[in-house]
Formats: sequence, C-alpha cells, structure tokens
Amino acid sequence: MKKIEHIGIAVKNLEVSNILYSKLFGVPPYKTETVESEHVNTSFFKIGKNKIELIEATDKNSPIARFIDKNGEGIHHIAFEVNDIKAEIKRLKHEGFKIINEVPKRGADHKLVAFLHPKSTNGVLIELCQEIK
Ligand code: ZN
Repeated sequence: MKKIEHIGIAVKNLEVSNILYSKLFGVPPYKTETVESEHVNTSFFKIGKNKIELIEATDKNSPIARFIDKNGEGIHHIAFEVNDIKAEIKRLKHEGFKIINEVPKRGADHKLVAFLHPKSTNGVLIELCQEIK
C-alpha cells in the first residue's frame, strides 16, 4: 500500500456538511460526484496532501443509510492507495482478510475500489483504491 488516499465521513445531509467543512478547512470541495452503484452523493476536499470524502446516502438502501442508522454520522472508512488493486486483493485474501468486493468496482474520483470487511480489520472499514488512468 502506498499511502492513505482519503478518509470517508458519513453525513446525513451533504449540502449542510459541505458548508460546515468548507468553514472548517477554509476551502470548498474540489468536486462533488454521485456514485449510482453505491447510492451515494460524495464531495471531496483537499487539505494539503490529504483528502477528505463526505458521503451522503441517496436512498434507504444505500450502505451509508444503514451505517448512519446504526452508528450515526462519523468516520466511515479509511482508503489506501495501491498500485495494483487486483494483486492487492489477491494478497490480502491469501493473508486471511475478508474482501467485500473481490472484483474491484468503479468508485468516486476516478478510482477502482474494493472494500475489506471490518470484521477482519478490527472494526475498521478499509477501502483499497487505484487511480484509473
Ligand atoms: Zn472512499
């Protein structure tokens, strides 16, 4: 793994949270994007070399809606950048980690993504992401 690519925060209302986080960081989000397959709207902030993703559910079936029902708003996942997501999935599976997406899917911000099940990572939802070139 190369580095932390971003930290994902689950929010109830993206518009309200964009205003809040713009005040916090002193910059507006550099992009907002809907990911249909995940039933989410997202926005991304850049703070120096680091990125924060805010995620809002677009409907009740969204994993984010279920997360907020269970845990309330807050940190949802930590994303790590990898060079070769397929190789990394294979390696981690071999190491005994539970992979949610054995076939990487298209995520927000031009990335191929796959998640590891929090049950196999001490309760932390981990996202692997690889830049689509
Ligand atoms: Zn993410």
